[in-house]
Amino acid sequence: MGFRFQILGTSSSGNCALIETRQTRILLDAGFSGRRLVALLNAIGKPIETVDAVFLTHEHSDHTAGLRGLARHQHLKFFANYGTAQVAQRKLNQDLSWKIFETGTPFQFKDIAVQTMLLPHDAMEPVGYVFRTGGGDLFEPPGSIAWITDLGHAPANLAELVRDVQLLVLEANHDPDLLEQDVKRPHSVKQRITGRHGHLSNAAARAFLESVKQPKWQRVLLAHLSKDCNHPEKVHQVMGNGGCPWPVECLDPNQLIFPEIDLAAL
Ligand SMILES: [Zn+2]
Ligand SMILES: [Zn+2]
Repeated sequence: MGFRFQILGTSSSGNCALIETRQTRILLDAGFSGRRLVALLNAIGKPIETVDAVFLTHEHSDHTAGLRGLARHQHLKFFANYGTAQVAQRKLNQDLSWKIFETGTPFQFKDIAVQTMLLPHDAMEPVGYVFRTGGGDLFEPPGSIAWITDLGHAPANLAELVRDVQLLVLEANHDPDLLEQDVKRPHSVKQRITGRHGHLSNAAARAFLESVKQPKWQRVLLAHLSKDCNHPEKVHQVMGNGGCPWPVECLDPNQLIFPEIDLAAL
């Protein structure tokens, strides 16, 4: 069993992905109800009992809605920095088994090396992740994944962090015109979304991709689309409809359970 990655869902309404190595199975964010997460994991034949840990990017509910339901699964460890853990725990009536890391300090969980970076977003201490594994022997080729969502702009050192990963997941949150026309969101919320600590627009996602010198990406997945204020068509237009220099795919915000990606086969 090599390095595998599967997104269970990604949009402004909920985010969760599964990362699997030879020794380890982890969830990345838990942005659906616990019941739904358990059902999604059962549907792919990887029940929650076989998951070792949950890694959180930040406390917003589209990343943590499942914590209350997952709390009863006492074998689970929950990885977060102090800021995120503190705020997330406050909303729960049961203590989680937290594993607190320091943002920016690399650490290891079983056979996965983890790197984090603070992102500019309106949460306590939001982070992006890079996960690496393998490389030790022929049977375990090196693999790397970056998960970068929920950021108002790309911080200076983000390009260097993600330049050499195999698989980049990047937010392409909104189309400015659709956001402007949206009637559900008050002006203040729209300002928050487009602000320096909000979310990347499609054009900002493209500008970030362009800013990275000689990237090694084998796949780029554009994620965390707003269901109301974006559309895969809009993302493709901005990315140049197949004419762009990166192997870009846009993830439908209404889809659940995307195909599993085997990083060794990229
Ligand atoms: Zn957020
Ligand atoms: Zn989010």
